Amino acid sequence: MQRLSQNGAADATRGLAILGATGSVGTQTLDVVRLFPDRFDVQALTCDSNVELLADQVREFRPACVAVGAPERAEVLKRELSGAASEVDIRVGTEGLCAVASRSDVDVVMGAVVGFAGLRPVLEALRADKQVALANKETLVVGGALVTQALEEGGGQLLPVDSEHSAIFQCMAGEAERSVEDVVLTASGGPFWDRPAETFPDVTVKEALDHPNWSMGPKITIDSATMMNKGLEVIEAKWLFDLNVDQIEVLVHPQSIVHSMVSFADGAVKAQLGVPDMKVPIQYALSFPARWPAPHERLDWGALSRLDFERPDPQKFPCLRLAYEALQAGGTAPAVLNAANEVAVERFLNEEIGFTDIPRAVETALERLPVHSDPGLEVLVDADREARHLVKELALPTPN
Ligand code: NAD
Ligand code: MG
Repeated sequence: MQRLSQNGAADATRGLAILGATGSVGTQTLDVVRLFPDRFDVQALTCDSNVELLADQVREFRPACVAVGAPERAEVLKRELSGAASEVDIRVGTEGLCAVASRSDVDVVMGAVVGFAGLRPVLEALRADKQVALANKETLVVGGALVTQALEEGGGQLLPVDSEHSAIFQCMAGEAERSVEDVVLTASGGPFWDRPAETFPDVTVKEALDHPNWSMGPKITIDSATMMNKGLEVIEAKWLFDLNVDQIEVLVHPQSIVHSMVSFADGAVKAQLGVPDMKVPIQYALSFPARWPAPHERLDWGALSRLDFERPDPQKFPCLRLAYEALQAGGTAPAVLNAANEVAVERFLNEEIGFTDIPRAVETALERLPVHSDPGLEVLVDADREARHLVKELALPTPN
């Protein structure tokens, strides 16, 4: 963010790489590209396992390079692509993601991988002076200090894609650097905002995946139900906007119309509003500082009867408290929080543990694992590995 220029080159045709092209953010990024085909040369696309969809995307966008999660998937992709698009360069794993992110024909990298896997390629992209549109919040949660360092040392730029952070970024445009007093991140509250906490142990995977306002990938949807998503976003905001913990407040706003707000030193408050549609912040990260005319759904002010705001209950949603505590502890604590949460969410989705075991697992990992201050990448990777191992092995009550 520090290196953000008000004179971006968003009007020229630019080489685009999408990390996580087959996911919710990745496919919506391609929807934006379809709206503005002259603005982008899609040079690289990646996915973990959905090679059938990736093959369709390759046939449509003709990238020079792709990356997939494992060698056997590269073989499947080769078979899928036999014929016209068979000359595409196929890379594998983290090395593949890093190669894609730093290609010379790529100007802009959309970071839309889910989880810790996004950190290394984002660092590579910034070190190669790319403009990075970042959806992958876990990258900043785990490696915010390293990302900040890469921005300070190189010619890379970072633009937020997460809707709340895009809102804050839009509110801050044109404002003097030290004029921000605090920010409010709005949260939908997820599907269980009104549900009595006593029934949380009975929450099923299907119920937790049923988000009221946003259609997203499974991991972030579960994070929204536990409110860990908002906790991760608090840490994300700290790094993007250079804020202290006590400058970041969370308010539940069930309508998801106000995407976030910023209070300034003179008492003025700016908010950014709109229909909940990720294509809007995705497009802004790609068009900044321009705004390209687009047919995204408009707010119908007359149909908006009310906008509600409420403080979240930290007893009911312990993940939010845990994220604030990890941010305050600093060092490797947010990496432990993130890794423990990634594994706990996966175990919940596999129906191995219950919904309330997610915060239990994260809290256990934070209690048991030491905090190392000022970690480099290798120390973060170790902390991530230890927390994953701990939560994978943790005996927790299974759901009914
Ligand atoms: P998703 O699960 O729909 O897609 C994830 C993408 O990353 C897929 O292409 C998948 O193949 C790839 N991927 C998954 N694991 C990988 C790995 N280990 N290595 C390489 N590639 C891998 O996820 P999503 O909902 O699109 O979210 C992506 C990121 O954006 C997350 O960090 C999420 O928190 C953030 N985000 C998403 C939304 C949204 O509306 N979906 C909104 C704000 C922020
Ligand atoms: Mg968000």
